[in-house]
This record gives sequence, structure tokens and C-alpha cells, in this order.
Amino acid sequence: MFRLLFWVLMAGAGMARVSTVVGAEEAKDVAASKSNPAADNRYNFGGFLDPGNWYKGNLHLHSTISDGNLDPEATVEVYRKAGYDFTALTDHIGGFWDKEKKEYRPLVYPLEKLNKPGFLVIPAIEYDTNRSGETIHFVVVGSGYDLRLEKDQDLSAAMKGWWDRGAFAFMAHPHWSLDSTETLEAMSYLPVVEVFNYATSLEEGVRGNSQLHWDRLLRLRRPVLGVATDDSHQPGTDSGGGWVMVKAKDLTAEAIVAALRGGNFYFSGGPRLEQVYADAAGNLHVECSPVRTIRAMAGVGQNSAATASKGKTIDNATLAWDKKWPFVRVECVDEAGRTAWSQGVITIRDDSKKQ
Ligand SMILES: [Zn+2]
Ligand SMILES: [Zn+2]
Repeated sequence: MFRLLFWVLMAGAGMARVSTVVGAEEAKDVAASKSNPAADNRYNFGGFLDPGNWYKGNLHLHSTISDGNLDPEATVEVYRKAGYDFTALTDHIGGFWDKEKKEYRPLVYPLEKLNKPGFLVIPAIEYDTNRSGETIHFVVVGSGYDLRLEKDQDLSAAMKGWWDRGAFAFMAHPHWSLDSTETLEAMSYLPVVEVFNYATSLEEGVRGNSQLHWDRLLRLRRPVLGVATDDSHQPGTDSGGGWVMVKAKDLTAEAIVAALRGGNFYFSGGPRLEQVYADAAGNLHVECSPVRTIRAMAGVGQNSAATASKGKTIDNATLAWDKKWPFVRVECVDEAGRTAWSQGVITIRDDSKKQ
């Protein structure tokens, strides 16, 4: 395959621009590192250095239990037939409200009907609340998902309660909710944010993308994970556009949720990430399905990128990473504009030189 990698390094506030063509020597170096990665194991960009298998899953999905248009069995079947390994079913808590008895029904999905050989359904709930005029939605997946969000409960305490019970819980679609970034930054406990919500991106364009909220938390050196989901309400129409790839030892709810909680996953709306790691010198090595651009991003004016010439694609890059950046994360963007995201890692400040 013809590859031509251009480096664009924009460092610091001065936006200095340096362009270099990566030659054959660097390309060989990347190939060698795949079989024996000289990786700095302190940085986990999404399970790439861990043993296990990759499993594709959707973490946000609605059925007729709440406001989706298909019953639970038909809903998850769309995902099984599309080749997913697992999905969460995340109906709104209101879907469990018994109008006659005026109380919540038990929060139980018919998992015995939904789970199939080689396909896993993880029970989950989407909670919604309002705080000082802000719309807040949380998705809670796995063990502890049925712990209710109480009226006026402190949001960080609620989030911690779910995580303490073993769940993988995240703030859903802050951009769609028009939440201020301060609302997220004020939460002392917020391990995960939904960065890409496919159904919203179909209906409301850029409001499906909450990278701003995520990047502002990372810029504060807060180790917050990102996810992409479908938030499908009409599977077959608004499904298949946002997912996680989880590196886990097997396809069980325990293993998948543990891997999610440990940050052993990346997320995507299209491209596949095959390897992302930092080497001992602090460069980033990325391998992915053919894309137009591979880039590393951090704070204001802090980025480096490799971009294929028009009409061409690239499937690997070695990118510069300045350790003065507070964090770094990688994006691969294909010709259709679809993105795959690594997790963001917080730069470890090496103080040994000062001693
Ligand atoms: Zn929602
Ligand atoms: Zn939803």
C-alpha cells in the first residue's frame, strides 16, 4: 500500500509548525515494535497492551420498556445480527413505573430470553434528573445498576454509589443536554463521560459529540474515560454508529464490566484501532484501519498529526507527544469523517531529574 505520512507538529501557544515526511526507516521501526513493543506500560490507551480478546458492544440502548420502538428481544436481536458481541439494555427508569400501583416495578430484564450463545446482554438503566436547571442523564451498566438516583441526591455520591457496587456508570450526552462544562467539573467523582452519541449525531448533528466536556476534564489532569454509544431508540435506523471495543478475558458480564472499569477499551464510530502505545522516548505509535488522519490531541495548540494526501489512506503513524502536555489521546478519522478514539492518558510528571 502506498503510504505517505506528513507530520504536522503544532507545539505550544506559539503554534510553531514543523512538517516532516516520515521515511522508510521510521516505517520499519513501527513494524518491528508491533511484535515486540517497547511500550511504556504506565500508559493505557485502551487495553492495547493487555492480554485478552476484543469484544464489540453498545452501552446505551432503549426498548419498548421505555421509549424505544422495539420490544427487548427484537431490540437486542438487531445487535446480535449485526455482529456485536454484547449490548447493554438501558431503558429509562420511568419505564419501570407501574401506573396502577403507583410504584416502580422490579428493575429486571428477561435476560434468559435475551442472552444467546456468543451474545451477551448486560442489564442497565438510564437515570435522569435536573439540577439547577441542568438536564442530567446517567447510564449505569452491570452490577448495582438498580440502585436508584434519589431526588436531590449529590451527583458525585450517586456516581460513587454505583461504582462502589461494581457498575460501569457514565454521564450521558452532556452536549445534547446542553450541560455546562462547569457542571461536570464540579463533580468530584466522574470516572466516565459519553463522548459520542450516535442517535443524537444523526438527529442533531454536532450535539452528539461531547469532546469539549471530556477534554476540559482531561486538561485538569482528571483521568476520565470516554465512551461512544448508539443511544438507539429505533434499532436498524439509529443503531450501529457508536460502540466500544473491549479487551477482556471472556464474554461474561463480569469480565466485560471489569474491563470497562479498568479502561481496557477504546471507542469508535467507524475506524478500528489495532495498537496505540507510548514508547520509552515518549512518542506515540498508532496502527489502525485505513484512515485519512491519525492525530494526537491535548490542550490548546497541543497536537500532532499524520494526514494522507487527498485520495490516499494511512494505517499507521508515529506521533510526537510533548510531556509538558497535561494529557494526550489519539483519534483516527476516516475519509467519511468517522472517528475512533483512544482513551486519554494523563502525563506522568517525571520529577527524578529535579532530585
Ligand atoms: Zn439520555
Ligand atoms: Zn438514552
